[in-house]
Amino acid sequence: MRLRNKPRAAGEIAAHPEWITITPEDHKGQWQTKFAQPQPLCVEVGSGKGQFIIEMAKAHPDKNFIGIELQPSVIIMILERQMVAQLPNLFLIQANGNRLTDFFAPAEVAELYLNFSDPWPKTRHAKRRLTHANFLKMYEIVLQPAGLFQFKTDNRGLFEFSLQSFNAYGMVFDDLSLDLHHSAQNETNIETEYEHRFSQMGHPIYYIQAHFKT
Ligand code: SAM
Repeated sequence: MRLRNKPRAAGEIAAHPEWITITPEDHKGQWQTKFAQPQPLCVEVGSGKGQFIIEMAKAHPDKNFIGIELQPSVIIMILERQMVAQLPNLFLIQANGNRLTDFFAPAEVAELYLNFSDPWPKTRHAKRRLTHANFLKMYEIVLQPAGLFQFKTDNRGLFEFSLQSFNAYGMVFDDLSLDLHHSAQNETNIETEYEHRFSQMGHPIYYIQAHFKT
């Protein structure tokens, strides 16, 4: 992947406040003002190059989408696509998703997506996994009661860890597949870049939809 250098990425980001922010805390509780109209707010943490969030925004014009990505040199690839597509229901945040409760008011988010999150395979790094209980606590606060939580990965170790983490937290499982691309749920599935690459390599895609107990 060709990555632009960080200073140039920072310049591009700063030049487009209509599509992206690096200070999401300024918009806490007021995200609907960033969109053409108020609609359910759907957030992806770790959007990468943005295939999922862009296609979701196109497929669901009745929802508003926010893609959060840590790396400036990666998120500008979404920004450049959005400058062309001008989707009225897509906004970007370049920041660390480990501060979600600084970015969103309680119950401001209707749907939250994690796709192919970094697995952090070493046990001593378990707290960095985006499905660790410390992250679940934040998701529970920003999500509406019974709001949708969705997670996809090809990493079996991360999926096993995550299922245990969700279960120990008391989350309710609504849907699950150990091979998403060969299941009925795939009819409405929107692929991510990593998902496309790993499924082409023959990896099964693990998928779960869940919500926090109200
Ligand atoms: N979701 C994309 C996909 O499925 O193709 C990208 C997957 S890639 C393995 C993980 C992405 O999450 C990377 O772009 C990384 O920079 C981003 N990321 C990791 N930790 C993050 C965090 N705490 N906050 C925001 N983004 C994060």
